[in-house]
Amino acid sequence: SLWLYFERGRRKSRPPVEFDDFTPIEIVRNEVANGIPGLVGNTPLVRINSLSDALGVEILGKAEFLNPGGSVKDRVALKIIEEAEEQGLLHPHCGSTIFEGTVGSTGISIATIGRAKGYETTIIMPDDVAEEKSKALEALGAKVEKVRPSSIVDKKQASFSSLFVNVARRRALEFGNTEIADDQDEGIAISTKATSEGMDDFKSHVGMATKARGFFADQFENRGNYDAHFKGTGPEIHRQTNGEIDAFVSGAGTGGTIAGTGAYLKSIKPSIKVVLADPPGSGLYNKIKFGVMFNAKESEGTRRRHQVDTVVEGIGINRLTHNFELALPIIDDAYAVTDAEAVSMSRYLVKNDGLFLGSSSACNLVTCVRLAKKLGPGKTIVTILCDSGTRHYSKFWNDEYLRKANIPVDISIVEKLLVQD
Ligand code: PMP
Repeated sequence: SLWLYFERGRRKSRPPVEFDDFTPIEIVRNEVANGIPGLVGNTPLVRINSLSDALGVEILGKAEFLNPGGSVKDRVALKIIEEAEEQGLLHPHCGSTIFEGTVGSTGISIATIGRAKGYETTIIMPDDVAEEKSKALEALGAKVEKVRPSSIVDKKQASFSSLFVNVARRRALEFGNTEIADDQDEGIAISTKATSEGMDDFKSHVGMATKARGFFADQFENRGNYDAHFKGTGPEIHRQTNGEIDAFVSGAGTGGTIAGTGAYLKSIKPSIKVVLADPPGSGLYNKIKFGVMFNAKESEGTRRRHQVDTVVEGIGINRLTHNFELALPIIDDAYAVTDAEAVSMSRYLVKNDGLFLGSSSACNLVTCVRLAKKLGPGKTIVTILCDSGTRHYSKFWNDEYLRKANIPVDISIVEKLLVQD
């Protein structure tokens, strides 16, 4: 099948372009995709017409919800699995099981790509994540283990997310009767190895294929996450915009998207601004603005609140992950986004553009609006449309849930933001 997509062509805020309206700018695929992994990436950029027209700034979203597993995380799952296969840490049809701790999207991507490649998956997630995510995981044949946030929030622990991630790490260990080897230089942060074997033997391909059974994907620390964006998302955006991009906006859950994509774009054009969109309860905004994640007074409370009070899922963290650390040198600015703003943006986009998005994408677009007003007309801002609203019916897209959580559903918040000076 031949998939073409089009750029809308000439626009007031851009210099004249060479081609006529609706000229194809890229042939995405000219052959039949090789299974589900062949459908990952190469997503189109879509101009967000309502926001771009109102602001005189091109706001372009990378339509990651079109990936086969429904989110940007398909790229990461594919890269992590492929790298693990190359290193012999995973081998199809040998009973290898992939373990991951995730709030959902990564799990769905690992289950999807894992199934396509012949692996079992076990996903550890908090039990307050939108239910449609665990249902999708079960439908995909993944084993789901839910961990109660209240039971695992421990004052001594660095953060909530490190806790369910640690459960996943432990499960991988138990499953494979293995020990954890820290192997960050090779791109796999946590690998597993048979306790009775030495590392040299473990590293021989054949030996590994038969012995490594439990593989901990570890999206937070695994460099493959960054690589997926540095080698995929970044170059695609550069190609699709012909390098005409002034800023890149992204939230951070693991930090892989903002670090990998931002680093690639800056390596090509150092003047590009990389800007973080941060939801309530996350420590990253403070880290970028003030150099510290939390001040002493708010630390414990903020960490706890993050898990119960925000409806934004998938972005916002309160510990420094390896993948986010890679983003620190390249992030130029950060914006804190409220739940009410993100909810308002999601409703505004459905009403004006027919664009049905999840919470992290809405957060990104609120930040794009703020940044557009700061940069002024004529610029181009690219962001990530991480997943669609279908992953968020029970919380972010549930007005009753939002009412109980005291989060207004008020489209005028964004309407006012667009006209305010
Ligand atoms: N949006 C959603 C819906 C996600 O699940 C994630 C990943 N947790 C992100 C955005 C953030 O991406 P990253 O992990 O690359 O920072």
